[in-house]
Amino acid sequence: MRYLSAKPTAKNTAPNVRGFVMYEGNSELTGEPIAVIATLVSKNAKTGDMIQTWIIRADMDPLDAVKEKKDAAICGNCVHRRSTGGACYVEIGKAPKQVYKAYKAGKYPTFNYDDHAHYFAGRKIRLGAYGDPAAAPFGVMRSIADLGAGWTGYTHQAGRKGFDPRFMELCQVSADSPKQAEKFQAMGAKTFRVAMAGDALADNEIECLSDSKGLNCLDCMLCDGTTKNIAITVHGSQANKFKTQMITAINIQ
Ligand code: SF4
Repeated sequence: MRYLSAKPTAKNTAPNVRGFVMYEGNSELTGEPIAVIATLVSKNAKTGDMIQTWIIRADMDPLDAVKEKKDAAICGNCVHRRSTGGACYVEIGKAPKQVYKAYKAGKYPTFNYDDHAHYFAGRKIRLGAYGDPAAAPFGVMRSIADLGAGWTGYTHQAGRKGFDPRFMELCQVSADSPKQAEKFQAMGAKTFRVAMAGDALADNEIECLSDSKGLNCLDCMLCDGTTKNIAITVHGSQANKFKTQMITAINIQ
């Protein structure tokens, strides 16, 4: 005979758990100390309420890392780093700084599969809300991705010597020009190309569905590294720094 539950099943998330430390160790890019934090609640309108992962230096405030040009540990040689005058769209003084402060204040327990995997069950996960997933060991990011119901991810490290090609299973490879996109696609990647409004789409690309259809990532989920080549119009507060000369596409206007 079956009986009704005596009490409701526990919910996936408890209000007092804001996130977890998923990794602390050396950067795969520079060997310096980094941490990967997963936060459970997001108000990011573009992504929707995905679990967000933050790859940050474990030993310094993200803004200080930028000011002191020590952000290569988490961003490698990405040309969009603010520390090198780039156009990175992440507002580092906001969420990344808050995550770092909470991390240092001990607000995030260290992830333990047996106790915490259920927080991720059924959720969609964004690999790299700030920082490059390839700064962490591949196995760490693979394990995080596999905890949920799907993931999106982006890496800017494909052109780097020693790049672990397995990240192409998890991440769109960021490309700054059509030529670079073709190069990475020939390596087997699906690309995420940032372009200027009015630039041409290649035949094998589609425009980000946020721009073309108003979807958020939670409902779209195309940026999983294996599905489509995506192009997106440059956005964010640093858009005016984006270098138009990097774009060689034909304007189809
Ligand atoms: S293509 Fe989809 S998943 Fe990728 S950034 Fe745009 S909305 Fe998000």
